[in-house]
Amino acid sequence: MKKNTDIKQIRTRIAPSPTGPAHIGTARTALYNYLFAMQNNGKFILRIEDTDTQRSEQKWTDEVLSELKWVGIQWDEGPDIGGDYGPYKQSQRLDIYEKYLKQLLEEKKSYHCFCTEEELENKRQEQLSRGLAPKYDGTCTRLTAEEIEEKIKNNTPSVIRFKIENKKIKFKDLIRGDVEFDAALLGDIVIAKNLQTPLYHFAVVVDDFLMQISHVIRGEEHLSNTPRQILLQEALGFYQPIYAHLPLMLNTDKSKMSKRQGDVAISDYHKNGYLPEALINFMVLLGWNPGTEKEVFTLSQLIKEFTIDKVQKAGAVFNIQRLDFLNGLYIREKSIEKLTELCVPYLKEAGLLVIGQMPQNKLQEVVEVSRTRMKKLSDIVELADFFFQDKLIFDKDLLQWKEAGDNATKDSLEFSTKILSEIKNWELKELEEEMFSASEKFNLKKGYPEKNKGYLLWPLRVALSGKKMSPSPFEIANIYGKEKTLKFIENAIKMLS
Ligand code: GLU
Repeated sequence: MKKNTDIKQIRTRIAPSPTGPAHIGTARTALYNYLFAMQNNGKFILRIEDTDTQRSEQKWTDEVLSELKWVGIQWDEGPDIGGDYGPYKQSQRLDIYEKYLKQLLEEKKSYHCFCTEEELENKRQEQLSRGLAPKYDGTCTRLTAEEIEEKIKNNTPSVIRFKIENKKIKFKDLIRGDVEFDAALLGDIVIAKNLQTPLYHFAVVVDDFLMQISHVIRGEEHLSNTPRQILLQEALGFYQPIYAHLPLMLNTDKSKMSKRQGDVAISDYHKNGYLPEALINFMVLLGWNPGTEKEVFTLSQLIKEFTIDKVQKAGAVFNIQRLDFLNGLYIREKSIEKLTELCVPYLKEAGLLVIGQMPQNKLQEVVEVSRTRMKKLSDIVELADFFFQDKLIFDKDLLQWKEAGDNATKDSLEFSTKILSEIKNWELKELEEEMFSASEKFNLKKGYPEKNKGYLLWPLRVALSGKKMSPSPFEIANIYGKEKTLKFIENAIKMLS
């Protein structure tokens, strides 16, 4: 058995199967592989595992490529950019697998199995009834060369099975430490449907070897596949890569992450307006922490600070609040130009923003006053919709501060109108100062507690936004301009009449 010390360079890979939307778990695995390769001056490879022709689709290949690119994880070799070890799509490597399948058949390390589904099922049931763990009983290993030839000539349906040696398989996992499996439990496994149709275990072993993968870093769900793959490596005379199995990603109730409980596709997070920086930061913490309180990391910091041996074994809970928190943080760090550009598609999609309707500087002001409340880009719609409307529709009771009543609320809005109409210099500071002092005067006049600004400012803010929560009335008025501000207050007064 060759040792992986033969390897000159660290080479890692992500090997998605394009059978559905690219999973957030794939992004995390890709990230860990990417970081590990980058920090070791290695190479990170993207390989498409599309041997399952029934379930694989080009659109899912396109999606995984585009979503990983969006996240910002770049590969050095892959189906779109090539590389020295291509092709990087398994469906284009069938000749290669055929050669190795033939080799194993010739060396009698694998064999044709002609057992039908029904026969296999009967055997399974029979084993179960005897209290045994079901495994293939080796019937077809006892066929003579003539019998095999005859069956093949007659086109008897068959698969290719690999002989599993009855022995203990031990390997060192970078995260799990020493791992041991008893291969005797496995039974001979099917590695190909025929010479042109290899299955996962076989293709992955051949490719990891030919692509000179040094480290296989992947999800824990593949841990139990590893002994089969190690036996195949041994049978083919390949070296064994170093393994690292990442902890499962769990829902907050500790169940395995699934579609039913929330979003699992990278594209869901993309569409909802999470920033790639936030997603990277969040994903790296799903199984790793630096051992300090620090939790905000850029990709380039991670390349320096990430350490595979600090990855935990226990499942990692996918806590969406943490993602929201990190996303908010990165949203607040964006330049206003960039953030506005990122928000525009959401505003357009919601039918709020029509090209040319709002000057760029106004739009930036809208985004600026909304950003502190934004957890994700899509929130801009809910937070800022009123800026794009000519008339607001809301429940008039919302205008009322505490138990002020309709008349007092009307008085308040009329008072605001009077003060605002007199303002010459319509800018934020002036608006704020004028309205604060107006609030004191209004309270004095009405006998309200002097410092309670709600009596004047709450109805005003609601009149301008139609919402329970929004930026301050000064910020909104400043963006609206005098005319629109006064018009909106007038509309609110009419609602009370
Ligand atoms: N194609 C496999 C999957 O999508 C990955 C196999 C591996 O990483 O070894 O789960």
